[in-house]
Amino acid sequence: MKQIIVIGGGAAGLMAAVIAGREGARVILLEKMNMVGKKMGITGKGRCNITNSADMAEFIKNTPGNGKFLYGAYERFSNEDLLDLLHSWGLKTKVERGGRVFPESDSALEVRNTFMKILKKYNVQVHLNEPVTSITVKDNRVVGVTTDKEQYACDAAIICTGGASYPLTGSTGDGYKFAQDLGHTITELFPTEVPITSAEPFIKSNRLKGLSLKDVELSVLKKNGKKRISHQMDMLFTHFGISGPAALRCSQFVYKEQKNQKTQHISMAIDAFPELNHEQLKQHITSLSSSEQRMAKDNDSKEKPPMQKL
Ligand SMILES: Cc1cc2nc3c(=O)[nH]c(=O)nc-3n(C[C@H](O)[C@H](O)[C@H](O)COP(=O)(O)OP(=O)(O)OC[C@H]3O[C@@H](n4cnc5c(N)ncnc54)[C@H](O)[C@@H]3O)c2cc1C
Repeated sequence: MKQIIVIGGGAAGLMAAVIAGREGARVILLEKMNMVGKKMGITGKGRCNITNSADMAEFIKNTPGNGKFLYGAYERFSNEDLLDLLHSWGLKTKVERGGRVFPESDSALEVRNTFMKILKKYNVQVHLNEPVTSITVKDNRVVGVTTDKEQYACDAAIICTGGASYPLTGSTGDGYKFAQDLGHTITELFPTEVPITSAEPFIKSNRLKGLSLKDVELSVLKKNGKKRISHQMDMLFTHFGISGPAALRCSQFVYKEQKNQKTQHISMAIDAFPELNHEQLKQHITSLSSSEQRMAKDNDSKEKPPMQKL
């Protein structure tokens, strides 16, 4: 029996621990927070957005950066495999708008409890409030893991410590350090899929707050005014800036342009009618404004009080 240590009990660590346990390993899951799956629990506004029903090509297309890198992983374990597994554990799911998959109960807690039940079934020891501080290597092999409480011997360790976003959920980027200490190269970290803040007066005034735009083209502009990247998707104005799929997808390029242009202030452009060229747009606006005028006239005549007979 191999002794496996899984470091971190987020979505990845829970799956790794369950599968290692199912395959017959002795597994210890070390989690630094007081519960597993904290970040998983805040996805989908606290309902746990488990996966999406889209096909593999769509997943790849919608992955920021080099999505093709994930082909191999999806081939081995797809969204459908995940749902089959969860269903076999008794977790019922439902598909909502945009193919988003949630637990039927709308409860992230149910997803967490299901994992806890299965971890127990495979005798995985879960240690909460136990942050890993280092990984020990001997003769080019991982042989142990040290926490702030104890040292554990192991045949292999799986680093599942997540990224560096939302540190309150426990993911503070520890895994990057562990990987680096083991000789891996860590590329520059940058935020992605995050809302974008703005100090523009028309946003600060809150006049547009809550306004959502369907299928618009949002672009991040370079210093010379040319487009660095454009994404045609929905977006939303908020009290602090912009959000929604198009804004989230553009966000990493805002950060990259901030570095390129050495300023916090990056210009963005919204094309509300990306399918229309200049001439078509002019015609569209003209026809919109004349139909508005017609409607206003009709309303005026309806609202006029009837003529009084003298
Ligand atoms: C607000 C928000 C909304 C999101 N919405 C969605 C969504 O709708 N759909 C979707 O698919 N994804 C969504 N995501 C992304 C998703 O939550 C993450 O991709 C996912 O949680 C990553 O899982 P993970 O296991 O890799 O990392 P994490 O979930 O971050 O788990 C890492 C775990 O490792 C633990 N850990 C860290 N360091 C140590 C250490 N030294 N020792 C021991 N334990 C340690 C942490 O405490 C944590 O429990 C959202 C993320 C956020 C922040």
